[in-house]
Amino acid sequence: MGQNDPRRLIPRTDRLLAHPVLLGARERLGEDMIRSIIQESQERARSGKLAPGDVEAEVLAGVASRTATSLRPVLNATGVIVHTNLGRSPLSDSARAALLTAAGYVDVEMDLASGTRSRRGAGARQALLRACPAAEDALAVNNGAAALLLATTVLAGTGEVVVSRGELVEIGAGFRLPELIESTGARLREVGTTNRTHLGDYESVMGERTGCLLKVHPGNFRISGFTSGVGVGQLRSLAKEHQVPLVVDLGSGLLAPDPVLPDEPDVAGALAAGADVVIASGDKLLGGPQAGLLLGRADVIARLARHPLARALRMDKLALAALEATLGGEAPPVAAALHADPVRLRERAGALARAVGGAVVVEHDGRVGGGGAPGVELPGWAVRLPEGAAPLLRAGNPAVLPRVHGRACLLDLRCIPEDDDERLADAVRAALGRLGEPPGTGGS
Ligand SMILES: *Cc1c(COP(=O)(O)O)cnc(C)c1O
Repeated sequence: MGQNDPRRLIPRTDRLLAHPVLLGARERLGEDMIRSIIQESQERARSGKLAPGDVEAEVLAGVASRTATSLRPVLNATGVIVHTNLGRSPLSDSARAALLTAAGYVDVEMDLASGTRSRRGAGARQALLRACPAAEDALAVNNGAAALLLATTVLAGTGEVVVSRGELVEIGAGFRLPELIESTGARLREVGTTNRTHLGDYESVMGERTGCLLKVHPGNFRISGFTSGVGVGQLRSLAKEHQVPLVVDLGSGLLAPDPVLPDEPDVAGALAAGADVVIASGDKLLGGPQAGLLLGRADVIARLARHPLARALRMDKLALAALEATLGGEAPPVAAALHADPVRLRERAGALARAVGGAVVVEHDGRVGGGGAPGVELPGWAVRLPEGAAPLLRAGNPAVLPRVHGRACLLDLRCIPEDDDERLADAVRAALGRLGEPPGTGGS
């Protein structure tokens, strides 16, 4: 390199690393990531593609783009599979790849063969119909609440939505289905009591003003004891007799029965029993992106799709792409967590306990969470740490969310991909190092 070679002007790595912005970004991104961003720009300057004087600016921009979201990845060690506060379902690799594809210009509403406009989200619709052949047609909107809003708006109008008092649920963060339905201008006609509703209760209110029959699967609680409800099949006859549509809101998103969740209703079953339209979320047990799925009779779905509200509730192209990929690709992480082998979970927990210096492994049940399979306990194991490790784990890098219970910090590996076990062990060692307590002292 000669005295006048402009490459001499390329800023050195140590000088760049000392830049206050990069120092600030180090904790979030890690030094390796920052070094690789620096090397990329230096390389471009060496090969003449970038002026040496522009290296620093490009490095700063590169670091900024990698911190463009304030969302931080979290290792979910709670054992709760569909964790609403953690964004519910982690996406499959196929769905993640589809998101990237959809990030650019894509033919989401364009028929490239003819150059004319096409139906939005046709691929996701086809994938839904393949996954659920019992449905004549399907429509995906922004989320489950939007699907319910659309169905009751279109099918009940200003008429009555007839629903059992045992099914009037609050879905979280203070949002209540009855209030959501009434916000559309429809009137709720509650029948039965909290614990028991009979066919006669429904029969007694059917009439001129009835807009639709609604059956909701209460996914986030369970009433046991002296209870009774009316099945979809019986409601079918009543709906037919009075010529009103029957809407079934399942929430959970199970398309077909799953042996691990014998009491959880599924879309295919509800359609077979006679629902005109079934509602489910995309990001619960289906394991996909946020979405509200409406599956059922072709004429009903067509009415829903035509309504102006459908435009306001439509899914974005990223979620459409991820939904299609979830349905057509490999089993998503939610399915892996649901069907995790307890023997393997115990082995992994044992390995983690040893790797962090001898913690105790305890039995720990996983949960479906997020409005699915209330009361179902999925047998598994957890590594028990002192309670004080929890805040340090949450603040660590990567952030780890444990379960705090019985004055202990519990790490359940069910929802952690095995590939991340080593990162988890590193994070736990770092947290314990800061805590200054031996791992085996937590809980009772
Ligand atoms: C979760 C749930 C909803 C709401 O669905 P989102 O996708 O969260 O909007 C509605 N109904 C039932 C029964 C649910 O479980």
